Amino acid sequence: MRTRLTLAATAAAVLLLAQPATAGSAPFGAPGVGDPYYPDYGNGGYDVSHYDLRLTYQPATDQLSGTATILATTTETLARFNLDFALAVQEVQVNGRQARFAATGDHELEITPATPLAKGKKVTVVVRYADVPSTKKVYGWTGWLRTPDGGVAANEPEGSWWWYPSNDHPTDKATFDVSVNVPDGTQAISNGALVGQSSKLGWTRYSWRQTSPQATYLATLAVGKFDLDAGGNTTAAGVPVITAYSRDLGENESAARASVERTGEITDYLATLFGPYPFATVGGYVPNTQTRYALETQGQVYYSPKIFAAGSNTSIVVHELAHQWYGDSVSLERWSDIWLNEGFARYAQWLWSEHEGEGTAQELADWTYASRPAEDPWWQVLPGDPGPDNQFHSAVYDRGALAVQALRNAVGEQAFFRILRGWPTEHRHGNATLADFRAYAERISGKPLGALLDSWLLTPGRPAPGTATSPTPTTAPTTALTTAPPTARSGLRPATAPQEPKSWQKIKATDEAHHDH
Ligand SMILES: [Zn+2]
Repeated sequence: MRTRLTLAATAAAVLLLAQPATAGSAPFGAPGVGDPYYPDYGNGGYDVSHYDLRLTYQPATDQLSGTATILATTTETLARFNLDFALAVQEVQVNGRQARFAATGDHELEITPATPLAKGKKVTVVVRYADVPSTKKVYGWTGWLRTPDGGVAANEPEGSWWWYPSNDHPTDKATFDVSVNVPDGTQAISNGALVGQSSKLGWTRYSWRQTSPQATYLATLAVGKFDLDAGGNTTAAGVPVITAYSRDLGENESAARASVERTGEITDYLATLFGPYPFATVGGYVPNTQTRYALETQGQVYYSPKIFAAGSNTSIVVHELAHQWYGDSVSLERWSDIWLNEGFARYAQWLWSEHEGEGTAQELADWTYASRPAEDPWWQVLPGDPGPDNQFHSAVYDRGALAVQALRNAVGEQAFFRILRGWPTEHRHGNATLADFRAYAERISGKPLGALLDSWLLTPGRPAPGTATSPTPTTAPTTALTTAPPTARSGLRPATAPQEPKSWQKIKATDEAHHDH
């Protein structure tokens, strides 16, 4: 989501920090889960089952305050443990007793309970806090999106630090209750179902409930003046649909509504590909932020209004809703597994194009392949392990989708669609790795797929034509520019060169949505 220039500079310090704290004999929980891309994200020693966030937010001052009650189970004996958090804390209790706490590292809240916690025990942590999130920078940056009428938390991979303390890694999913008190006339939006709304003394409390396990970065909070519709619309298949639009979208409003109002229909379409929708509610909201991206926040997708500046775009809705299966229900195990999210969400856009008669997935694969000459450094980015700096590089999406097309061509239509549907069922509400996917696809198809997937996901350079591309190899025009599709060179194009699919520009418009420069 952001250019990650500061991380390399701090990597050495982070690695030192991530060493197990073995000083003395005190059993300290590690300050990170050891993700190779982000060593100090998440924490060791416990597993969270539920977050209860009871907050108050004042849009006029950007003041956020409240109480987080975190239910967890220890996985080690803990004399001390960490949460990930950037805001100022007033008080911490562990199992009802005052605990000592300190802000350490870049985004760590270090907590020392009155007495050490035994392994395998349920623990309740209460954190009281108050701060102005837009003023809190981590790595020189704040993930809190301030708007004229409020604020929004929606970012990847780090979004939670500016609004609630957490074990911030997708491997520790939990259910959420988010209840936010805001001035009358202002709305608060979070994930799941709106289970309560009541006004008192000039303030209105909105209570949201996410009953399915949710990764911390997929939790979202938006406060502002919205047209909120949680009034009982459902998809044709019966999934409740919740939408919200800022009342300040200006000329982007019509295109935003013309896209996001298709949520129900698109959810039902994707269910025909991926199996039953995995959550209790589906929806999308468009706040008046200045970003250019969308994010698959669970059951309640975040859309920047600028995505719709060039007109409606159902392709972006398809992408974010596909993530509800590929990324949200089935979460990555390590951030290097990002292809399992983005390769499939992009491929879902290709399938939608096929469904809408705007170009088949094969035609999109042929065009994507031909648009990038072999010498383009773009082919050096590996979708199967892009590195933290390139985690949201366009190659993760486009070459990632080419890998999915190569899989489809290798295993055939029947096995391919069994895999596409079976994978989200096999790992529903869990976590999985790239190796897990390969093993699953090999089991369903009965074919060895290691060499093929390696060539598309883990080998630098452009793979030979014929696996992801049409059986009749198409040659990219040798005169093609590095980044532009060869439309301007039609006179020099071989007769067999692919044509630009109708859906191409709308799909490309969603690329920018993922690169917030
Ligand atoms: Zn995506």
